[in-house]
Amino acid sequence: MPRLGHIKLATAIAAGALVLAPSAHAAGRPAVAALQVTLRHHHVYRGPVDGIVGGATTAAVMRFQRLHGLTPDGVAGPKTRRAFGRFAKHVLGSRILARGMTGWDVAELQFALAWHGFPNAAIDGGFGRHVKHALIKFQRWAHLAPDGIAGPGTFRALRAPLPRCPIALAWPLRAAVGSPFGPRGIAFHPGIDLPGATGTPVGAAAPGHVIFAAHDPSGYGNLVEVDHGGGVVSMYAHLSGFSVRTGQSIATGTRVGRIGSSGESTGPHLHFEVRVRGAAVDPVPAFG
Ligand SMILES: [Zn+2]
Repeated sequence: MPRLGHIKLATAIAAGALVLAPSAHAAGRPAVAALQVTLRHHHVYRGPVDGIVGGATTAAVMRFQRLHGLTPDGVAGPKTRRAFGRFAKHVLGSRILARGMTGWDVAELQFALAWHGFPNAAIDGGFGRHVKHALIKFQRWAHLAPDGIAGPGTFRALRAPLPRCPIALAWPLRAAVGSPFGPRGIAFHPGIDLPGATGTPVGAAAPGHVIFAAHDPSGYGNLVEVDHGGGVVSMYAHLSGFSVRTGQSIATGTRVGRIGSSGESTGPHLHFEVRVRGAAVDPVPAFG
């Protein structure tokens, strides 16, 4: 346990085992995601960390139970939890979390942070640099002291409803969603993917002004960002080129660029992302 200075550990322990309810439209539960991470650590599960109990997760629990001489009922009860070992000892809220710690509760924290708009690389139960950065951003977002240490205030804030896009959006192009907002493999997809042929025009989802139109080296490739006011920013990534420039005022549907495959992309598609005060939100409910 690291030294945590001013934070009262007793308060955190008193908070007990929290059950995070990410929201109505969040399908997964942090505790189930933590179970999946734990099963991955024990090499009995290779499926996604999506927080959803499905056949593969239940089968993995049963496999683990058989390997450890437990009744294979597929339910991760107290005996199974004990057999998971130290990693599964702490549920979220039962201790304060800081960089360098590992465990079930860290996986829950990672999953909850991602759903609240602050994905942090792979959800693996390890509190590393990326988790700390995401946590600090979330704490600022939630008007908490941005200390990068998850205590009672952070746990409470993670129980709040998920942020939503407060404005109506138009589809940037007409296509079925290829990859939705949410867990993807052991990571979290902070936007939606709209597949289309290279060169397909991409329109602005709402009126605003262009705050970025350049190559982004972090993976988005050719990226346009549009500020819609009220803290809402839309992002159009992997473009083949730009049809707007920074500072330009644009209307709904104004062509910002064309579909490409620039940046970290395996084929032509639009990655469309919406942030509300920096938190990534699912844009689909905002489409008219
Ligand atoms: Zn994407």
